[in-house]
Amino acid sequence: MVVIDGSQGEGGGQILRTALSLSMVTGKALRIENIRAKRPKPGLMRQHLTCVQAAQAISSADVSGVELGSTAITFVPKAIKAGNYHFAVGTAGSTTLVFQTVLPALMLADAESTLSFEGGTHNLSAPTFDFITLAYLPALKRMGIEVGAQIERHGFYPQGGGRWQAVIKPVSGFQRLDLLSAGPLLKREAVVTTANIPGHVAQRELGQVAKLCRWPDEDLHIQNVECLGGGNVVSMRLHHQHCSELIEYMGRLGVTAEKVARSAIDATRRYQVAKVPVGEHLADQLLLPMAIGKGGEFRTLKPSRHTLTNMAVIERFMDRCFATKELSKDRWEIELT
Ligand code: ATP
Repeated sequence: MVVIDGSQGEGGGQILRTALSLSMVTGKALRIENIRAKRPKPGLMRQHLTCVQAAQAISSADVSGVELGSTAITFVPKAIKAGNYHFAVGTAGSTTLVFQTVLPALMLADAESTLSFEGGTHNLSAPTFDFITLAYLPALKRMGIEVGAQIERHGFYPQGGGRWQAVIKPVSGFQRLDLLSAGPLLKREAVVTTANIPGHVAQRELGQVAKLCRWPDEDLHIQNVECLGGGNVVSMRLHHQHCSELIEYMGRLGVTAEKVARSAIDATRRYQVAKVPVGEHLADQLLLPMAIGKGGEFRTLKPSRHTLTNMAVIERFMDRCFATKELSKDRWEIELT
């Protein structure tokens, strides 16, 4: 049994999700303690509970301690079953994080799986559905992992109610990831997605991008979507030859449209100045597929605590070691051989 301390490093939900994925992929029993110990409300929240239940459904795992608020669980997986699954978070909790938990096991299964999700699709502190389809999945495709996804309805905090589907193909052969350069910029755009909020919010956000980045009108887009409640996200999209990066900030009550846009613009500048292909969030999300596949290397910004913690959890399960190299202050190389 692998025993994981959920309070290590970043001390959040990612430790649980990575540990569940690797328990299923390696067949090793898992005991995780101090779950989300460094969060204001530690233990399993709805989203984390759904991750454990989804993992249990696809691996027929024997589990104990699985309930809301629980700070320790045991998870003993059996064989992975490909198939049709429906996972509903039940609140506006992130469905993309549930998807990322079950993907590693299902991509190794012997048949295709079709998943449908219900809950949040565009959440604070989680990859949005757009980030998944435009940044994460294309990077995974370079490693030989093929997933198709489509959205039916957006789901924002606090109403949720988003719906989307994914089709996961069994991997026929892994490839090493090699992302040392992004290649030439092919397209850039700022997309503001809004639902049921006044139109001036999106206009003001794009106004900031026009003023501070000097991006012309043809690079600025507003997408109005239908969903249960209100929602707003600023998405700066940089599509390069070898990879795409989406830098996204969610609009929130009490934060001005200008401030939301400026956060996105500042983070975009940081990424552009560093001249690396992989952004802060994609970096921590690529480690697991790399470790299960053929490894590889990529250049990225200074590794976040999420990234460093994820490396430590992966190294506990697998006989593989990450190497990080600082090329300059905000330009790093991460390698897994
Ligand atoms: P908690 O820490 O409260 O348990 P959590 O379960 O959402 O929250 P985290 O440990 O914070 O888990 O992990 C969040 C994941 O979402 C990380 O993989 C991170 O890279 C990703 N993420 C966060 N913000 C973004 C963003 N703006 N774009 C893409 N991915 C993001």
